[in-house]
Amino acid sequence: MRFLTADYLFPLYIIPIKEGVLQISNDGQVIAIFKNRSEVPQAKLEIFEGIICPGFVNAHCHLELSHLKGNAEKGKGFLEFSNIIRERDSYIDTAKEQAIERAEQEMIANGIVGVGDICNTSDTLKQKQKENLKYYNFIETFCVNVNKIDVIFNQAIELKNEFRAADQIASIVPHSLYSVPPVLMNKIKNAFDEKDELLTFHMQETKEENQLFENKKGDFFDWLNGMNATSSIWKDRNKSTDILQELGCKKVLLVHNTFAKKEDITDNYYCTCPKANLYIENDLPDYSIFDTDKLCVGTDSLASNDALSILDELLIIQNNSNFDLNTLLKIACKNGAKALGFEQLGTFKKGKIPGVNLIKSLADNKITKLI
Ligand SMILES: [Zn+2]
Repeated sequence: MRFLTADYLFPLYIIPIKEGVLQISNDGQVIAIFKNRSEVPQAKLEIFEGIICPGFVNAHCHLELSHLKGNAEKGKGFLEFSNIIRERDSYIDTAKEQAIERAEQEMIANGIVGVGDICNTSDTLKQKQKENLKYYNFIETFCVNVNKIDVIFNQAIELKNEFRAADQIASIVPHSLYSVPPVLMNKIKNAFDEKDELLTFHMQETKEENQLFENKKGDFFDWLNGMNATSSIWKDRNKSTDILQELGCKKVLLVHNTFAKKEDITDNYYCTCPKANLYIENDLPDYSIFDTDKLCVGTDSLASNDALSILDELLIIQNNSNFDLNTLLKIACKNGAKALGFEQLGTFKKGKIPGVNLIKSLADNKITKLI
């Protein structure tokens, strides 16, 4: 049994408590919260400098791309970045495995306890079976040619079954609206079952994506045509958000939204990956458009980030929004846990096992430059 206290306790289901005390069992389960240190025998208190909050939830990652760290040049745009991703298979398995293990260790060291992870392969499965972190695995489909849809979809089903057979949470998801024709979207929708808690996909990550649907031209239009993509991808779709109608009413988490406008925002969950947006597009979303009860934070992969740290991401969001510290921590812990259905994570509510983070790099309730 431990009684942890710091300058402030951020339970996240109630307002922050100055010098609040968190009582947890030896296996990390929240037993109680005390509003005053005087309620706990002095000798039992463990007093820290800084603030205490629950473990972070990384709502969007691609753990299997960890071996591509540093390969992409910064600020070159999405199409250039996609060329780097195409090199993903030209590495030996041990290099991939070691990078995955290191990346997971990095997340743990950075206070992350749960992850929404995009999977195109089963490369990460061995690591995930160690259950160091809680994962929701999103089996991603990307197919712009109609004649390949059956093969791609069947591979996705097989991969989903492989993850589920290993006791992992897994759902098939579209990569984005521009990379999944309506026929494939229908197959994904028809394959939903009672275990599919959440769907997620990349959304409005680039200006070119909006241009493709709104004007039927631009760099994405040329890129897709160069791959002999079916015109059904853009013909009857007029904006990225049309994907929501095609998928029906499942709970969804839309990732990036860098070029979303206020009128695009729905009551779904949104995930921002600011460092990846700066890395690839050198741009950020307008944070004033989001509902802070529905906004989550992700790191994206090490192919488009130099670290897997939610606190690093929060620093960027803080400096580009008017969110206070409690809001920042809520989007980093509680909202991601809610979106991903991780009921044990996200807040210090009694009975949860949410992990405990101590943050020391603070000044005047602001996250300061991390050293
Ligand atoms: Zn991504």
